[in-house]
Amino acid sequence: MDPAEFREWGKKMVDFVADMWEGIPDRTPLPDVKPGYIQALVPPQAPNYPEKWQAVFDDLEKVVLSGVTWWHHPNFYAYFPTALSHHAIVADILSGGISAIGFTWKSCPSMTELELAVLDWLVSALGLPDHFRNSHPGPGCGIIQSTASDATLIAFFAARAKAVEEIKNSPTMLQSIQTEVGQKFKDLLGKSPFSGKKGAEQEGQHSSEIYLHPFHDPAVFDRLVAYCSDQAHSSVEKAAMLAGVRLRKLRSERDERYGNFSVTAATLEAAIKEDRAHGLHPFIFLLTMGTTNTCAIDPIRELATICNREKIWAHVDAAYAGGFLLCPEFRGMGDGLELVDSFNYNAHKTMMVNFDCSPLWLKDGKSAVKYFNVDPVYLKHEHQANTADYRHLQVALGRRFRSLKIWFVMRTFGIEKIQQYLRDGCAHAEVFSRLIAASLTFDLVVPRNLGLVCFRIKNASNEVNEELCNAINEDRRIHIVPSKVGEVYFLRLALCSQLTTEKHVRFAFDVISEVAQRTLDKMSL
Ligand code: PLP
Repeated sequence: MDPAEFREWGKKMVDFVADMWEGIPDRTPLPDVKPGYIQALVPPQAPNYPEKWQAVFDDLEKVVLSGVTWWHHPNFYAYFPTALSHHAIVADILSGGISAIGFTWKSCPSMTELELAVLDWLVSALGLPDHFRNSHPGPGCGIIQSTASDATLIAFFAARAKAVEEIKNSPTMLQSIQTEVGQKFKDLLGKSPFSGKKGAEQEGQHSSEIYLHPFHDPAVFDRLVAYCSDQAHSSVEKAAMLAGVRLRKLRSERDERYGNFSVTAATLEAAIKEDRAHGLHPFIFLLTMGTTNTCAIDPIRELATICNREKIWAHVDAAYAGGFLLCPEFRGMGDGLELVDSFNYNAHKTMMVNFDCSPLWLKDGKSAVKYFNVDPVYLKHEHQANTADYRHLQVALGRRFRSLKIWFVMRTFGIEKIQQYLRDGCAHAEVFSRLIAASLTFDLVVPRNLGLVCFRIKNASNEVNEELCNAINEDRRIHIVPSKVGEVYFLRLALCSQLTTEKHVRFAFDVISEVAQRTLDKMSL
């Protein structure tokens, strides 16, 4: 493809996407396709010779758009939102056009430096603690991860390595680990796993020595225990699974302040005491600001204070709710953030930035770097002592130019417009919540928080509510997903699309009421 062809078909694609967007309200949020539908539309082999661009475009509706779940449809209320704006798409075109991979400063200086700069913009805009700034003289830093799950995994890996390091450096802590584990540690301390390898390299030989990183010891991992609320996202369980550590889910309770399900200080204290008595070593507590089930907020100040005292890494997963810190009136839920070791939210959920874009801040990024550091000769460069090399704070080596979309969006929207979008979403959720609260058919499960409303049919079983949820989605005028807290099954309506207005949430309420009546009649209740 030469530049002239790119100009022609690239512009056609921009038109196509713009038309597609205008047509979203005329579609249904869920597509009408069955699993495997694409097999009949796509040949089993790729073509040997180039096809015409027009032929590709001609297939788009039939093959691709017919099978899209329209997350930006005004009647899409499932999961939590994924953000989108033309501004961010334009940035992604540039990112694709540049197609550099900025794993070190040298591999793409502008990619590294713009990321350092816009993450500092976000620290100011969200009212985060100053020490998270890349420009702060302290060891704090910010980095864009792909997803909240990745950020959680990074926090787990860093906290796990830090715990091993601390145990190794503290005879008392070493003793507190059970004897056979302590012995393994002492054995390990005697011989550096690196020494043989380095010696062999110096002599120009290849080493086949079994390699164990000093911050990684399965015998110690076996004594580590991570904490989260029983409401935390499934990605926390995955992180514990991948990190090979125990996870204890702490019982959540209704919290007066948010009327929702969060962990109390007493529950955390009791768990730490009990686990230490059993020879376990609590090393990370994953707090949630905005749980997926009910948008519950763990009380950060109380819980992080305990974590600080007990030398437990406090990580805040604010995947959905974090973006709302942009509005001063929501900052109360972030009270105590100066005490946490890491904080993450998905700009791609609430801040007009297309997937993927999940900023993560670390209070002591400089120390964390050493837990991820591998240093082959081909990645070294002459500026590495005084620049940021983001490869040291992520799992993958390669990384995309994600900061461009934050930069474009914040400049061309301005903070006020994004705040307005967030406030509008909450206001529409409030309208829906009031309709539910006033109805004779439904109950709110918890008070609305931000853009999420959780409800169910009054005095009805889980089975009836499940039937209602299925019937709503089969009806296909709106799309929602259910959830469960304890034994209570309920439906969630999350404000997702920027196209959703008050008229749409009133329509959603009418659809839900109509389908609920049908469901109740069918089940003879
Ligand atoms: N944490 C919370 C609280 C979430 O609500 C979600 C997804 O909605 C995630 C984590 C996972 O997000 P990601 O897809 O960015 O990993």
